[in-house]
Amino acid sequence: MHEFKTESKKLLDLMINSIYTNKEIFLRELISNASDAVDKLNFKSLQDPSIKVGEGDLAIRLSFDKDARTLTVSDNGIGMTADELERNLGTIAHSGSQEFKRENAEHQGDDVDIIGQFGVGFYSAFMVASKVRVVSRAFGEETAHVWESDGLEGYTIEDGERAEHGTDVILTIRENVPGVDGEQGENYDTYLSEWGLKDLVRRFSNYVRYPIQMMVTKSRQKPKPEDAGDDYKPEYEDYQELETLNSMTPIWKKRSSDVTPEEYNEFYKSTFHDWEDPARTFSFHAEGALEYDALLFIPGKAPFDLYSKDYQKGLALYSSNVMIMEKCADLVPDYYNFVRGIVDSADVSLNISRETLQHDRQLHAIANRVEKKITAELQKMRDDDREAYERFFENFGRGLKFGIYQSYGMKADELADLLLFWSAREQKMVTLAEYAKAMPEGQKAVYYAAGDDRDRLSKMPVVHGVLDRGYDVLLCTADVDEFTFQAMRTYTAKDMPKVYADDTAREAAAKAVADGAEPETEDRALELKNVASGDLDLATDDEKKQAEEASKEHEELFQAMKEALGDKVEKVAVSARPMDAPAVITTEGPVSLEMEKVMARGPEAEGAPKSQRVLELNAKHPVFEKLVAAQKAGEKEKLAQYAGLLYDQALLVEGILPEDPVAFAQAVCNLM
Ligand code: ADP
Ligand code: MG
Repeated sequence: MHEFKTESKKLLDLMINSIYTNKEIFLRELISNASDAVDKLNFKSLQDPSIKVGEGDLAIRLSFDKDARTLTVSDNGIGMTADELERNLGTIAHSGSQEFKRENAEHQGDDVDIIGQFGVGFYSAFMVASKVRVVSRAFGEETAHVWESDGLEGYTIEDGERAEHGTDVILTIRENVPGVDGEQGENYDTYLSEWGLKDLVRRFSNYVRYPIQMMVTKSRQKPKPEDAGDDYKPEYEDYQELETLNSMTPIWKKRSSDVTPEEYNEFYKSTFHDWEDPARTFSFHAEGALEYDALLFIPGKAPFDLYSKDYQKGLALYSSNVMIMEKCADLVPDYYNFVRGIVDSADVSLNISRETLQHDRQLHAIANRVEKKITAELQKMRDDDREAYERFFENFGRGLKFGIYQSYGMKADELADLLLFWSAREQKMVTLAEYAKAMPEGQKAVYYAAGDDRDRLSKMPVVHGVLDRGYDVLLCTADVDEFTFQAMRTYTAKDMPKVYADDTAREAAAKAVADGAEPETEDRALELKNVASGDLDLATDDEKKQAEEASKEHEELFQAMKEALGDKVEKVAVSARPMDAPAVITTEGPVSLEMEKVMARGPEAEGAPKSQRVLELNAKHPVFEKLVAAQKAGEKEKLAQYAGLLYDQALLVEGILPEDPVAFAQAVCNLM
């Protein structure tokens, strides 16, 4: 008996008393090893023509014996000598095991997917087997050897028999463990069933290059006897047939020109359990230091749980056609969490034995590229198929906006041009670039209004004021919109007509264009402005002057109204903005009325910041005269009531109920 090395023992111990619930990956590991062994022999034969192995003969076989509780994974690959059995299976002599232990120490307790992430190779067999026997004959050797272990203390190596080169890994499958106290038990019997094994192969090893075969029981109709009478009932019989369980060529390794859209759609639906065809399918192949294939899909519809905590993002990660992880979250950023697909790279290690750090760096590089490709594909969709893009945006746009918000605007460069908003003037969805392109000369900002109803927004006096100026307003109805805009602060519009500092420069440029030069363009940072916040700076010099004069003239009136309204407003002022309404509520500072509403609904409603409100009065409105008259006549009471009414009705227009609706109704009645 040879003893396992200490660190192997620890790993084995971990495996058997597993922290890891996903025991089923053992088969993937054994099949991968078999596939590697076949690969090695195949490679050898390619180098040395005297070695004759046809690729057609190379295969992996599964067989099981329910009564003996054995499952055998066989291959006719390169095999192992006694020395190799000792070296390869006796120790975990891989550099990665240290890392594994460290990782594991860090994550002690939580059920971390370490084994699933890095693979643990051959030893994973002990998760499901109480004994493992390996019969192997190395290519070119006359004798075979048998390695055997119960995975506890050590192993034995003896002489044995095998007709041909290759390896049989024979697992004695554990007994089922019944569930206790409502806890789920362990069902090992599935690994001794045709159905269970087929399922595992399809899920984890479907694209292994060599055929994975198993004898399966099928049923067929017996031939009808010649003397069968009219009342003959067909009879059936079972028979055995060698079946190839895996589909071998992965669709993502095929050239996209060799795959029909229907094939892609079918693959998508069956792999990612969707009923609908994907909205977009795209693939790419990367070469160089890191080689990989990727096949990605943008779903046609958002899954019902997309915005729930339970939703798991991620792409399937394969290494040389073998699935390592079903959903590798690190491969896509959160805002592209809806993308489904597969990344396959031979360079990403299946096994813990490779440097895990390196593994991370590679994953990172792939993720960067994947992100760029997704962005490019969405841009393409936006430009060539606007209708489909609008549908896409309805499904997933919220996530893109969150991406900007959550990155504090860092991701705006990548994402801002993918956003769509409703244009009040165009009456359709537009991009920010389209908004900027349509701006009249002199417009310096992107104007938007935020609220939950598009119709109501379009009727707001502050919106009208801006539209009347000839500037479009984006009507934002998603709760995240304004937060996104605040995170962005500005939008940089590309290729805008150049603005010249003075007349001389402008004339020179105009002359150059007249002489055949292209008009000059520039990138321009446009501020994003809520039409109901702060000073929009839209008033003409005349209007500004008028407002200023009115402010001075009626200072006492404003003072009195502010006193009447108390803490509700920061101040009362004359409005310089063009409008028909007698008064509007605007805000100063970073929090708008709409944001206040959104935050009050949110999880941190308690103590959420409040907007600083300003009651802006329209000095040209007949109501204003009434205010002035009341003030002059010293009717304090009446003025207070007017102030309250104006305040409440201005809020109502913005979709905010008066704090005291009864008092509001009474005030209206009193006036009548
Ligand atoms: P890895 O596959 O990453 O090297 P494993 O623990 O899965 O790690 O396997 C250890 C070693 O055992 C392999 O590198 C290989 O040399 C050898 N081995 C395992 N299974 C077979 C097999 N079926 N045929 C030949 N060699 C094998
Ligand atoms: Mg392996």
